[in-house]
Amino acid sequence: MLRKTRLFTPGPTPLLPAAQQAMAFYDMHHRTADFKTLLSKTLADLKEFIGTKNDVLILASSGTGAMEASVSNLTSPGDKVLVLTAGKFGERWTGLAKAYGCAVEVLSAPYGETFSLDEVKAKIAGAKVVYMQGTETSTGARHDVQGVAKLVRAEADCLLVVDAITGLGTTHFDVDGWGIDFIIGGSQKALMIPPGLAYCAVSEKAWQRMETSKNPRFYFDLRKERKSQVKGETAYTPATTLIAGMGAALTHIRQMGNGDLVEGRKALIDSAEMCAELTRVAALALGLKLFAAKCPAAAVTAIAVPENIDSSVLVKDFRESFGAVAANGQGEMKGKLIRVAHLGYYDYLDTVAFAAALEQVLSRAGAAIVFGTAVKAVQEAYSQKTAGKPELAGVKS
Ligand SMILES: *Cc1c(COP(=O)(O)O)cnc(C)c1O
Repeated sequence: MLRKTRLFTPGPTPLLPAAQQAMAFYDMHHRTADFKTLLSKTLADLKEFIGTKNDVLILASSGTGAMEASVSNLTSPGDKVLVLTAGKFGERWTGLAKAYGCAVEVLSAPYGETFSLDEVKAKIAGAKVVYMQGTETSTGARHDVQGVAKLVRAEADCLLVVDAITGLGTTHFDVDGWGIDFIIGGSQKALMIPPGLAYCAVSEKAWQRMETSKNPRFYFDLRKERKSQVKGETAYTPATTLIAGMGAALTHIRQMGNGDLVEGRKALIDSAEMCAELTRVAALALGLKLFAAKCPAAAVTAIAVPENIDSSVLVKDFRESFGAVAANGQGEMKGKLIRVAHLGYYDYLDTVAFAAALEQVLSRAGAAIVFGTAVKAVQEAYSQKTAGKPELAGVKS
C-alpha cells in the first residue's frame, strides 16, 4: 500500500512546501549584501511573529542552545534561580542551571499538571531568574506565563525566561506587555522548517544583566551576536539555508494574515487551538483520558491510553501501517501516552486523519471501538465551531 509520511510529532513537524523550495535553491555566501538583506528581513519578521519590540537573535543550534544561552548569559555562579517544572523540558532547566553553578530552587508540579501561582509567590523571593515553559511538550500542559510574569515584575531584580519552543505559534503571549525578558523558539516546531535554528527575543533588562553576569560563554555570547545581527550579520557562519526557509515560512504566515504578519500569527494560533480542541473531543469520545485535562496546550495533546494497552504498540502501528509518526510518552510516561502535535503545517484534515487512525490502532490493540466514534465527534465539533466563522474554516473572506 502507498504510505504517505505524516509527522504528528511535536518537533520536527511537517515542512511547508514554500520553505522547502526556498531552502533547495539557496546557495548564497553569508558575507554578501543579499544575505544581509535576507537576515535583516527575517529578523524583522520574526519580531512581529514573536510579538515584541525587543531585539531578536537567530542561533545555529537546536532549541536547547538558546536555553543554555539564557542560563550562561544571565546568571553568575551561586545565583538563586527558580525553575518551574512539570515535565521533561522543565527538568532540562534544572540540569542547565545546575551545570552553570546556580543555586537552583525547584518548584515542581506533577506531570500533566501546572503549578499554582501561590506556590510560585512563596518561592520567588531573591531569585535572579525564573525559568519556565510556555507549554510543556512532554505532558501537553499549558502554563500560566502571564500570571508568573506578574509575580516576576513585582520583584526588584528578577528576570523571566520562557521556553516557548512549542508555545510560539500555538499560544498567545504578550511578550512586552507581560514582561517576558527572554523568550525562546525553535525552527522545527510551529515555523514549519527543519531542526537547526533556535531564536530568542531579549529585553533591555536582560541585556543589562549580561554586562555583570559572570558565567562563561563564547559561542553563545549573545552580546557579541547582537552586535552582528543588528547589522544583518552573524558572529560565526550562520545556517544560511535554514534562514532562507525561515524567511519563506514567515512570508507564508504573513499571507495567512492577508499581508499582516501579526494577523497571520493569530490565524496560526487559532488553527492550532482548534485542532487541539478537536483532538481532545476525539479522545474523549473514545472514552480516553486527557493527560493534561485541566490545562491543555494547543501545541500538543497527550492522550492517556487504556491501562491494558501499551502506547508503544499504538505508536508502532501508526508508523508501520500508516507512515504516521506520533510520539510516545517520555521517561516515566513511556507506554502510557500517545502525543499528537498541532504545530505549524498541520490542519483540520490532519486532525480527522489522526482521529480515524487512532480508532484503527486502538481497535487492533484490543480496545472496544465503534468505528466512526472519534471521527463523528470531530466532525460535529468542527461544524459547530466554524458555523458563521469562515476565517476559522480557512476560507478567505
Ligand atoms: C522541542 C522542545 C525543546 C528543544 O529541544 P531541542 O531538541 O533542543 O530543539 C525545548 N523545549 C520544549 C518545550 C520543546 O518542545
